[in-house]
This record gives sequence, structure tokens and C-alpha cells, in this order.
Amino acid sequence: MSTTVTNFSDLGLSEPLLKAVRDQGYHTPSPIQAEAIPAVISGRDVMAAAQTGTGKTAGFTLPLLEKLSKGGTAQSRVQSNNVRALVLTPTRELAAQVSESIATYGKYLNLHSTVVFGGVKINPQMMRLRQGVDVLVATPGRLMDLYNQNAVKFSQLEVLILDEADRMLDMGFIRDIKKIISVLPKQRQNLLFSATFSADIRALAKGLVNNPLEISVNPENSTAEKVTQWLTAVDKKRKPAVLTHLIKENNWRQVLVFTKTKHGANKLTRHLEAQGLSAAAIHGNKSQGARTKALASFKDGRVQILVATDIAARGIDIDLLPNVVNFDLPNVPEDYVHRIGRTARAGNTGQAVSLVCADELNLLWDIEHVIQQHIERKILTEFVPANALGESRAMRPLKAKKPKSFKNPKAAKVEHKDGQRSAGKHNSGKQTPANGKPVNANSSRRSKSRRTSYSSD
Ligand code: AMP
Repeated sequence: MSTTVTNFSDLGLSEPLLKAVRDQGYHTPSPIQAEAIPAVISGRDVMAAAQTGTGKTAGFTLPLLEKLSKGGTAQSRVQSNNVRALVLTPTRELAAQVSESIATYGKYLNLHSTVVFGGVKINPQMMRLRQGVDVLVATPGRLMDLYNQNAVKFSQLEVLILDEADRMLDMGFIRDIKKIISVLPKQRQNLLFSATFSADIRALAKGLVNNPLEISVNPENSTAEKVTQWLTAVDKKRKPAVLTHLIKENNWRQVLVFTKTKHGANKLTRHLEAQGLSAAAIHGNKSQGARTKALASFKDGRVQILVATDIAARGIDIDLLPNVVNFDLPNVPEDYVHRIGRTARAGNTGQAVSLVCADELNLLWDIEHVIQQHIERKILTEFVPANALGESRAMRPLKAKKPKSFKNPKAAKVEHKDGQRSAGKHNSGKQTPANGKPVNANSSRRSKSRRTSYSSD
């Protein structure tokens, strides 16, 4: 039977790391930290189904730093252009954040780390790699460029970490990743983090991890419980006005808004600015400098609204972010979960609001199916749409998708929470005005034939 770990000092971390954790104000290890930290320190490979918001970054960074600081062999003296640990991430933002975490947790250790990603000059990165680093955080494309120019060598590599591996595959990095893996020493520790374990991820893992400890924590569940989710039906054209109204009326100080397209993000940002609100856009067409600046201004409150596309927002970690708005619903329902995971982080509460127009009904159905929950509908009396939004569909249970090899009893314990949630909280299409009072029961109970047709989607 597994015991609950309530203290970081029970996990095998030494004092410099414990002190850094205390400085951060963390009291209790998150479930993934409790599972992963001792396993990584013991040298085991780990495969974790966990996404941003679970504390996964500290879950791999702390034991990694512990191991590297204890490396007492000749291996531990890193030679020029060499790296001892490599963290691969899909986006520049995530790379920068992981690198920040390494600096934060490693501040009382004498280890060197650096971060490399595309979109900025390569020469300074080459210079930084020259003396060798203990930890290199990289996006795959830039890492390949550096490798091809002999700026990085892997003969001393001890640990490989793939962070958000599912996103790396989504973004087409599979060839780069395979190439990188092929040039690493065979003898190494591997840690694989992914929000989901799709067939593609399992195929990647097959040639990567060796007898791994498998951990599954599902932040969708813990997050979904703390995030107040609601939607309002709105005509497409009036979405900018609805957003402006909500922000002004409720005096939202910090709002992360998601749009489907880069163009849409730019257009909305201009609209908000014209309404006297401070807004910035963040997406793939923006230079790295502009993205970093926008994110920093948003984090420190100089910019009130950050308008982002899914890829750009991936992994963004903003403490206490209170409001997320889906200006457009995402095409991929799992992205909804990633989006709302930006709020209600690490025990805080937050709200996620979706502006849904009639032609997004199919997307809404898909999302409600994935989250196994009907999102509460509120009516904004000033913005009742001319094109009514159709009803929600009856809830169809998710197909059991627990990976076969999740046999670890501790992992099973964490998984248990998922089972509880997948029973589902149903709001059944209840409509509530923004002041919270139900005005119209929009029954979502549907005929069996409707359910049948849904399952053929
Ligand atoms: P991550 O899932 O790694 O992106 O972390 C999500 C957020 O949780 C970050 O803001 C961390 O600083 C915070 N965090 C990580 N571990 C803990 C912990 N044990 N207690 C409280 N907050 C934490």
C-alpha cells in the first residue's frame, strides 16, 4: 500500500534543493512530484501522463538537479560543448519557463544550465555552450541546427527529458526527436512527459524508455473542479463587443483570451485597444522578442489582456491567472482543457468563459464530450443572439482509454481520481444569467437515436 508523502524532505532531496523549494513557498509535493522525485533520483526511467499545472516541471527538475549535483565521477565535469542533461520542449515559451525553473530550484547549487530555441541569433547560444553545461533546455529544431554545427555534443549525456512530448509530435518534431535520440549515448536515463499517451507517443516511448515507472495524474480533473466554466451564446459578429463588455463590466484585471487564428488575435487586440483596454497579441508570427515582451507585460500587470493562439500559449505559466476566455472555441477539444488549465493553477480558483456562436455547436459538443460535463450557459441580456445556439448533447461516456501498461500501484492510486471524475458533473444545459440565477432550463436530454448518431462522429 502506498503512503501519502506530505513533505519534500521525505523525497530524497538534499538541503540546497529543499531550501529553494521553501523559498518558493511550496509546502506539500504535488502527486506527480511525490511519485517522480524518488524514482528519478533512483535512476529509473519515468513515463508520466501529466500536463502543465500538475507541478511536473519541479517533478523532473528537482530530482534531476539532485542527481547532477551528486555526480561524483569524472562524468560530472562537463567538457566543452557537452551537456549532462537535455530537456526538449515544443515551444520557446516552455523552454524559457523550464529554464527559469532550473535556475529557481538550482540557485543554491553550482550547476550550469542554458536554454536554446529558434527565432533568436544562434551565435550567442553557441558561445554559451562552449564551456559545456550541466543542463541544456532546447526546442528540437534549434538543437538540431546546433548539433549539425558541432556546437553541442552528447558524449557525456546522462539524462534525456522530453517535456510535452505530445505537442512536439503535433508540431511535427518527430524526425528531429528521432535524430537527436539516435545520436545520444545508449546508456542514459529517460523521462517522458506528455499530456496524453496516444498511440504515437507509445510508439515513441517504445524505443526510448526502459522499464519505466508509469505515472498518470490528470490535471484536467483537478483543474476542472476548481475552474468555474461557463459559456454564453453570442452572434459571431458581436463577440468583440461581448468580450469588451465582460471585461469592463466585471473589471477583469488579467484576462488570457484565446483565438483560433493569428489574424484573429491581431484583429481582436486592435479592437480591444480601440476600446481603451490594454492588450497584446502572442502568436507564431510574432518575433521572439515581441512574445517575451508581451508575456512579461501581461505577467506584471502592465498589459491587461493577452490574446493568444493555442500554440503560443502552450505551457504559459502565470501565477493566479483569474480569467481565461475562449473567444473562439478550439478545433481540437483537448485544447479546451489545455486552455482552461491556464487558470486555477496550484490550488487557486479561476474562471473560464467561452463565447460560442451558432456555427460552433459541433465544437462545443466535442468539448463537452471530452470533459464529460455540460458547460453552464449564461445569458447576457444585452447580447441575446439572433442565431440561437443549439442544445447540448446528452452525455456519452468516454471510452475507457487507460493505457494497458499503467500497472504501477502508485500510479493506479492517482488514476483513481480520474475514475471519480469521469462519472461527470452535469449541468445539463441549465441556463443562468450572468448574475447566477437560472432563467431557462434548456434540457439536454436527448433521444437514444441522437446518442447513437453521436457515437459515429
Ligand atoms: P507546472 O505543472 O510545472 O507547470 O507547475 C504549475 C505551477 O505550480 C507553477 O506555478 C509552480 O510554481 C507551481 N508548483 C509546483 N509545485 C508546487 C508545489 N509543490 N506546491 C505549490 N505550487 C507548486
